[in-house]
Amino acid sequence: MKSLLRKIFLVDLIEGLWVTFRSQHPKNIVTEQYPAERPRIAERYRGAPRLNVHPETKETLCIACNLCALACPEHLIVVTSERNEQTRRKELTTFTYDISRCMFCGLCEDACPTDALELSQDFELAAFTREGAIWDRQMLEEGPVPTRYRY
Ligand code: SF4
Ligand code: SF4
Repeated sequence: MKSLLRKIFLVDLIEGLWVTFRSQHPKNIVTEQYPAERPRIAERYRGAPRLNVHPETKETLCIACNLCALACPEHLIVVTSERNEQTRRKELTTFTYDISRCMFCGLCEDACPTDALELSQDFELAAFTREGAIWDRQMLEEGPVPTRYRY
């Protein structure tokens, strides 16, 4: 009889809903609220590549030595340069980085003698296609624009 009454008055359903509603208060949320809240990234995380510039002069720190391209097991970095006849120094002309083939091993970053190339903590690199996956010098210097989600 008791069990029949429980069924008629939907006691189990109401108890279940009560458990759900009891956990709706924000203080009970235990999952990450991404993208509303950015997750904390480990200090050593290797994400989107960045080509650093001098903070004051905005000149590139890259000396076009090509060591990063030689260190890369995927051969996805292409560096081109030309010699400045006045200073006799090599100057960077183009720098491309195929992000779709990168495995973020960090060998290129380690090989760079001037800390020009850095794998940053930007992690939002997912895309539906490979279109635009080859980043040029401008993209590498400015960095990707994070997507702002609306609710
Ligand atoms: S992180 Fe590794 S795979 Fe990616 S460009 Fe650098 S060396 Fe190549
Ligand atoms: S190793 Fe560094 S300085 Fe040399 S080409 Fe690569 S980014 Fe430029």
